[in-house]
Amino acid sequence: MKQKNDASKPATKRIAVIPGDGIGKEVIPQAVRVIQASGATVEFTEFDWGADRYLRDGTTVPPDGFAMLARDFDAILVGAFGDPRVKTNIHAKEILLGMRFQMDLYANVRPVRLLDAGLCPLKNVEPKDVDFVVLRENTEGVYTDAGGVFKRGTPDEIATQEDINTRKGVERIIRYAFEYCRSHEKLDGSPRSQVLMCDKSNAMTHAGGLWQRAFKEASAEHPEITAQHMYVDALCMQMVRDPRQFDVIVTNNMFGDIITDLAAGLQGGLGMAASGNIHPGRTSMFEPVHGSAPPIAGKNIANPFGAILAAAMMLRHLGLTREPDKIEAAVLEAVRQKKSTQDIGGNLGTREAGEGVAENVCL
Ligand code: ATP
Repeated sequence: MKQKNDASKPATKRIAVIPGDGIGKEVIPQAVRVIQASGATVEFTEFDWGADRYLRDGTTVPPDGFAMLARDFDAILVGAFGDPRVKTNIHAKEILLGMRFQMDLYANVRPVRLLDAGLCPLKNVEPKDVDFVVLRENTEGVYTDAGGVFKRGTPDEIATQEDINTRKGVERIIRYAFEYCRSHEKLDGSPRSQVLMCDKSNAMTHAGGLWQRAFKEASAEHPEITAQHMYVDALCMQMVRDPRQFDVIVTNNMFGDIITDLAAGLQGGLGMAASGNIHPGRTSMFEPVHGSAPPIAGKNIANPFGAILAAAMMLRHLGLTREPDKIEAAVLEAVRQKKSTQDIGGNLGTREAGEGVAENVCL
């Protein structure tokens, strides 16, 4: 029997959980356990999309799959896709890129935060020095699979990979960056104040020109925000020379992919980085930045903190504050106490590290 709505209780949020492949299947159960320990009023439904299902019955995304997610859920929590048994990686493309493209989750939000100085490979860098966010365009660029191969396998073979940049796509991610800057604070409570657009417009003049023009227009509408620009190569060098200078970075799909792996290095590695795939007002998806990591899968050694922090991001996106605050504080405490996996200096397994955070959440 359906219960009557009680206005004093927060509405239950419906979360679709897709652990996927490899370490996704290990870290996502820990993220779910921590959400449960936080007391958030959520209801989980798990889906088996991934390599095992594909190898069993050929299904990547069931018919109506993305429409069902958008219709029946408030958010989606995803692990990772990729399995050495599926050489073409077709299932990963159809599920992960399919979700981003078909659900039009155009803003890939990747916060870069250093929780403890000991996790950063740079000298003399404190947690307050690494607190920026990368906003990666998530539906276009070189990931659309436009292009082709001509005379395959011959000495005359030609391969093209088109870089798709639409006015609509470029404009909306840049506007999202200014809006994000206006509405988000730094960890120390100070306001965010700078948006930096990163491109390679000195070499890629056509696409770069569009990004430059759209950025100029959007920045003129936000005189209170400092607008800056860097070529992607210079940005990589600056990120390791002095990460203090960054606040909000906006860039295209490929540069965002690459610079956030570099940025994850500043945070303590891929196991620490979280991300959201967002279309404001629609069902959005949250996942750790790392992939399925086949070499370490099934060994109970993967760091679950990136997935747990992605879960906290998801709850915050859904309008909760107390629970994500508790989860982030619990991860910070676990990092400080070294109640963590080996990649960040602890000696616990994936399950035990997740259990430790869940215990901290309950304190
Ligand atoms: P993708 O292309 O799907 O993003 P990838 O091949 O670039 O994936 P990952 O699968 O993310 O890379 O992992 C690369 C390596 O980083 C792993 O083999 C592992 O050594 C390390 N790694 C990634 N995630 C974690 C984690 N959660 N905990 C510990 N180590 C990790």
